[in-house]
Amino acid sequence: MDAELELYRDNFRRFLSEYIEPFYPDWEKEGIMPRSIWNALGENGFLCIDLPQEYGGYGVPIEYSLMLVEESARAGYGALAASISCHSEIAAPYILHIGTEAQKKYWLPKMVSGEVVAAIGMTEPGAGSDLQAIRTNAVLEQSTYIVNGSKTFISNGQHADLVILAVKTTPNIGAKGISLLLVDTKLLGFKKGSNLKKIGLHAQDTSELFFDNLHVPQEQLLGQEGKGFFYLMKELPRERTGIAAQALGSIKGAIDVTTQYVQERSAFGQKVSQFQNSRFVLAHAKINELAVSAFYKENLELYKAHQLSVERAAALKCFSTDMQMKIADNLLQLFGGYGYMQEYVISRFFVDARVQKIYGGTNEIMKEIVARELLGR
Ligand SMILES: Cc1cc2nc3c(=O)[nH]c(=O)nc-3n(C[C@H](O)[C@H](O)[C@H](O)COP(=O)(O)OP(=O)(O)OC[C@H]3O[C@@H](n4cnc5c(N)ncnc54)[C@H](O)[C@@H]3O)c2cc1C
Repeated sequence: MDAELELYRDNFRRFLSEYIEPFYPDWEKEGIMPRSIWNALGENGFLCIDLPQEYGGYGVPIEYSLMLVEESARAGYGALAASISCHSEIAAPYILHIGTEAQKKYWLPKMVSGEVVAAIGMTEPGAGSDLQAIRTNAVLEQSTYIVNGSKTFISNGQHADLVILAVKTTPNIGAKGISLLLVDTKLLGFKKGSNLKKIGLHAQDTSELFFDNLHVPQEQLLGQEGKGFFYLMKELPRERTGIAAQALGSIKGAIDVTTQYVQERSAFGQKVSQFQNSRFVLAHAKINELAVSAFYKENLELYKAHQLSVERAAALKCFSTDMQMKIADNLLQLFGGYGYMQEYVISRFFVDARVQKIYGGTNEIMKEIVARELLGR
């Protein structure tokens, strides 16, 4: 066991009990966390921590960063896990891996401190799984991209100061016409829609975004024009590993609370934990936690060795989130009616699990990726 990682985990758990636990139910009602929580995360060293020191990070291994996602999910704060994941596990690596030196120096330290909250804007009302069909377009005029269009379901969308935006710079040539822009949300022509009402992840902001003759300086092009789709495919394994960290944390957390509950609750003169069904349901959950954990750790090692394939990352995303949903459902059942009450955190594990099978690429798309590797197109 990495003693330093465990120390860091303890620090983060203390942060969760001080800064998150007392307020989380209110944030769920409000449908958003306060902006200040991002500054608190940054000040306490919990954002983008695996970035190199020259860009404001701490240069620690990726498992330190993913631990924050896993622990947030384990404590039942799925919205916090998803928010951190979007910022640190998805957005930051794009800039680090593809950005120019000037882009890295400008954006990354601000993301570490929490001064800048980042989001990623790919999905549109008419294009989710089929990303090549996006219609938001960017036309280069002199040294400025003029952007028109809209995005939907964008995580961190209300708080975002920076959106990594997928746009069409050349129409009618599919994936080859896609580019990525680093968009400052304060620019004229950038409009945030309302905070969307979801069935879970209630404390996370998810928004529509609109662009009306938005002027983006050409120097905010991320990487090369026309290579946006290639970059998205390249970075998705990290995003999907982050989703698996969330799934693993959530499975562990659901097992923690259920183990305790069934030993307290009685029916027919005995503890619920003494029914064979309860024991088998919990054992099944534990066995699958171990399987998800082993698969996750293996992928993490492959990622660190730059050998994590798109197929393996997709397989883990699919397996871990299917398991998360199944386990949350099975364990909630052991709470009886109390499991359906918001007062019991198991209900949150259940509603927060559902979207994990949808975002980051649906699990049907994950199976397509795995099947393509087996069978070809
Ligand atoms: C809470 C939340 C947060 C999100 N955050 C972000 C974000 O931060 N940034 C972002 O860009 N997007 C985000 N998304 C969008 C998410 O990635 C998309 O919803 C997802 O990729 C699916 O796209 P869609 O909703 O358009 O569904 P569709 O693509 O319309 O799919 C509908 C159904 O058809 C199935 N399907 C589609 N194509 C195939 C196929 N080839 N084979 C088999 N089945 C298929 C799908 O699996 C699904 O079951 C978020 C979504 C949600 C709900």
